[in-house]
Amino acid sequence: MEIKFERIHLQSDLLSPLKGFEKISVPTEVRIDPLTKRRSRIITWGLPFKGKFDFSQMVEESKGCFFCPENVFLKTPQFLMEIVPEGRICIGKAVGFPNLNPVGTYGSVVVLCREHFLNLDQFTPEIYKEGLSVAIEIIRRTMAFDSDIRYWQISQNFLLPAGSTILHPHLQVIGDPIPTNEMEWLVNASSSYHKRNKTIYWNDLVKIEKGLGKRYITSIGKVHWFVAYAPIGFNEVCGSVEGPGSVTTLGQEEISSLAKGIVSTLKYYEAKDLNSFNFSIYSICDEASYQLLIRIISRTPIQPYYLNDWTSFEVLQSELTSNIFPEELCREIRPYFA
Ligand SMILES: [Zn+2]
Repeated sequence: MEIKFERIHLQSDLLSPLKGFEKISVPTEVRIDPLTKRRSRIITWGLPFKGKFDFSQMVEESKGCFFCPENVFLKTPQFLMEIVPEGRICIGKAVGFPNLNPVGTYGSVVVLCREHFLNLDQFTPEIYKEGLSVAIEIIRRTMAFDSDIRYWQISQNFLLPAGSTILHPHLQVIGDPIPTNEMEWLVNASSSYHKRNKTIYWNDLVKIEKGLGKRYITSIGKVHWFVAYAPIGFNEVCGSVEGPGSVTTLGQEEISSLAKGIVSTLKYYEAKDLNSFNFSIYSICDEASYQLLIRIISRTPIQPYYLNDWTSFEVLQSELTSNIFPEELCREIRPYFA
């Protein structure tokens, strides 16, 4: 195994007005991802906390949206007859249909629940089990119609800071014949690791992280939950699923395990007074050296005079940052997975 955990210590010295202009040193840690070699920075100073946001006015003003139960079957698009003859896919309370504003070849939305708004601690494993099942059924049906579509993401953008214009909880399902940048990095790096070591990176990583015990949270069924050594977002939690890298082969047990891990992570975010998050499941067909991965990150919470957490550093320098040491996050979040 050639997995290396590399880090670079940076330090900034200055005379601080907060300490009578005494010299202080502010550290920054740069970490290098053992697979992709991408660098990310762990920044230890915190943003000012403005307290919990009251959503009542926002919910009142926006309820009765296209995704609310009285509208979802009247005002949302339907799939082509050749793909889904019944028009939309429903499992439990989740409803899937094409996205009116797609960003690629196949774009769908899955409305997760009948409630127009949920706090992070109100999401349940059942909600995600149904939602993910609809997303996977959309992918299976689309691939039966168009087998060239090997690259899929199931993602969630929750609330405005995460890029969602609609409050009502929903997933995005996006499929293309070409990978996103992130998928290409994951596939290429996993494949060259496999060529060099004759082993699967993701199995090796789980083995090492389990042994070290500093960033490995727990396993739920075949899903291994851990905190990345070099996170690419705030409070990033990852899940790696044993087996193929595509969601199309997932059974009920794996879907349940993913749902439980997402809900555990959201409960932790709620306890930290966060309210907005993104996640992505990277689903890639026919890549033997890659295993299915989910990444969940928090965004700066919605609040008056909202502060965006992506600065020129992230958007123009492609240098991604994290606000907590992964080992500390792992310690804090473990009880929520118990
Ligand atoms: Zn709604």
